[in-house]
Amino acid sequence: MIEHPHYWHDPLKDRFNVTIESVIEANGHTFVRIHEPVVKPSGGGQAGDRGFIQINGNTFEFIDTVLIDDEPKLLMKTSPQEKGESILIIDMAWRRAMMRNHTSEHLFVGNMKRKFPTIDLGKIWIDGHHGSVKLIGNPLSVEEILDVESQVQQYIADAIDVQTKIVPASDVDESVRAREGITSKHDVIRIVEVGDLDSSACAGIHVTNTSDIHVFKVIDIKYQDDGTHIEFITSENAVEEIFEVYNAALRRKNSYPFELHQLGAVLDKARNQQEAYEGALQIITQLMTEGPHKERVGEINFWHEYLPGFDANTMRNIMKEIKSDSASIILFLAPGEKTSFVLWTKNMPKDAACYIQDIMIELGGRGGGKKDSFTGGFTDVTNPLNLYQEIVERVRRKIHIN
Ligand SMILES: [Zn+2]
Repeated sequence: MIEHPHYWHDPLKDRFNVTIESVIEANGHTFVRIHEPVVKPSGGGQAGDRGFIQINGNTFEFIDTVLIDDEPKLLMKTSPQEKGESILIIDMAWRRAMMRNHTSEHLFVGNMKRKFPTIDLGKIWIDGHHGSVKLIGNPLSVEEILDVESQVQQYIADAIDVQTKIVPASDVDESVRAREGITSKHDVIRIVEVGDLDSSACAGIHVTNTSDIHVFKVIDIKYQDDGTHIEFITSENAVEEIFEVYNAALRRKNSYPFELHQLGAVLDKARNQQEAYEGALQIITQLMTEGPHKERVGEINFWHEYLPGFDANTMRNIMKEIKSDSASIILFLAPGEKTSFVLWTKNMPKDAACYIQDIMIELGGRGGGKKDSFTGGFTDVTNPLNLYQEIVERVRRKIHIN
């Protein structure tokens, strides 16, 4: 009869009496082969066990377990010299973190597959720090992923038992998630069931109840050519990360007043300001190297500028400072969440509105003014530079006609 790995049915036992069969030196590393199937080797997208072996009161650490020639071998940090009887101690912090990450992966992917049946599971990786999955198919939106994240957190709160069973490969039907070809490679298949939520062919280690996971948190989403790559953490790693991120905001709450639930808006504002700043730098460079956009239209001086990072008030204040004795029209436009413009006339026979109001209405803007000043704005402008160029062209024609 085949001896199944001990961790398949009792993943929390962490001390074993084992027999060291050989100590192997290869590629500058020391590997130890033990007789008993009690350590989990890396494979199937999951890291191997870590731990210690004790021989005659001396402790030797192993930092991974790898499959070499189909046999699990301990990758040693320090090399024991003797063979024979020893005590093996599993690093349970590492193993338990892997168990939590792995069961979370089943819950997350199982739920994703139910919601989006056309996606396929690509590469996965699980270790004691984090887990990641690649979901092949149409890219999943952040909201879709976060919906499933909160569903997984609900399953954790529901404290659902996780059970494993070993069945003949011929018994595995479509209700079981399994990698293609797996049933033809093995005579018996181990199935991991999370309540009636998910049923998966899997040789890895799992928690025995979803409540052991405590917390599940997605920490990164990357879009790749053929799908979506999602990274997550669980339990104390997740708590630590959430504390760190939350407190990074909390420490700044008084020096830069905002409410914590407005963090998204604060970040949006920072991004907009960064864009405006970069735009303003470009304009300053252009003004310093090429000078202002001033042209003669007939007898009139027409001066127009595109001014990212400015607002209507700032533009009006600049205009007030401009000295000009000749007939002039000045048009400034500032892109932004609301794109605003100011048109100013000097020594012109007609009011400012005469040169801009119709154009603004035709282009879907709003505004008003009197005598020599007219201020207006546009919302939801997808390409403000195009809008600016269009207004300049139309004002130029207007000046010609009038
Ligand atoms: Zn698995």
